[in-house]
Amino acid sequence: TPGGGPRVREEKILVTVRVRPLSRREQSLYDLIAWECVNEHSIVFTSPNQERAPTSYTFDKVFGPSCANQKVYEEGAKDVALSALRGMNATIFAYGQTSSGKTYTMRGIAEIAVQDIYDHIKSTPEREFILKLSALEIYNETVVDLLNRESGSLRLLDDPEKGTIVEKLVEEVVKDGQHLRHLISICEDHTEQPSGKFRLREVLRSQLDLAGSERASQTNADGTRLKEGSHINRSLLTLTTVIRKLSGGKRSGHIPYRDSKLTRILQSSLGGNARTAIICTMSPALSHVEQTRNTLSFATSAK
Ligand code: ADP
Ligand code: MG
Repeated sequence: TPGGGPRVREEKILVTVRVRPLSRREQSLYDLIAWECVNEHSIVFTSPNQERAPTSYTFDKVFGPSCANQKVYEEGAKDVALSALRGMNATIFAYGQTSSGKTYTMRGIAEIAVQDIYDHIKSTPEREFILKLSALEIYNETVVDLLNRESGSLRLLDDPEKGTIVEKLVEEVVKDGQHLRHLISICEDHTEQPSGKFRLREVLRSQLDLAGSERASQTNADGTRLKEGSHINRSLLTLTTVIRKLSGGKRSGHIPYRDSKLTRILQSSLGGNARTAIICTMSPALSHVEQTRNTLSFATSAK
């Protein structure tokens, strides 16, 4: 940096928004579509009842309801995923309210990403790659190994070389795409949870991290503030703060990685030699407008 200031991230966080179609349930309840993708970067709140003036939000990309996972991968995740092959730490995560499409998006993208990564590995036979998978869940600041649930609650340790590590976390060497899908299916067994729980899926740790996040908190009636309460998810709130600070282009200032388990684990994947893609998922429904606004406000602050 000019003047020899401290090192800052060179790349911005890639922030995209994906709108899912109106669900059958929403349709049967005569819910209305409240958002319009006006071009590939912008989404506008159109207020079907004309109660409010239209508001527009702009991001690196906006994916409309008919957009397929392939396009979301190519334009919202691929560059970040493949940066892992150049030795970067790569993190891709989905952020949005329950039922907004996080699981749909991460499953679709993970499969395409893995195929893409294997293709690249095959085309560079002169280099050797090792792909390992580990998977964990954080709930109420308790860390559980999804490949070895019997091990109970795992501790975080500070390793002088690797940074924060999860003690006894299983790392499976992945043989091929089929093996990977099998491992992911083990992790996903019994992990679909009611709203309010939070899930992190780490894929190909130290080469590539794919993390899915669940917005666990609710909004107040005015939709602007996070409700206080025991169900508030410390890891998710801290992640939000960390992302805001990282994207703020601040050269100084404390980044509170150590305030939660999730941000401790992701520290090396988010700061320093790292690239991050955030895919914010949203329902187009009028009934979800306040939560969607919160998602878009997080997305805006992460740009
Ligand atoms: P979340 O993980 O955020 O709670 P899900 O991924 O489970 O939400 O999505 C909720 C429902 O909407 C599921 O039935 C899913 O198949 C459907 N869905 C989500 N995103 C899309 C999409 N882009 N296109 C079609 N259906 C979608
Ligand atoms: Mg889900």
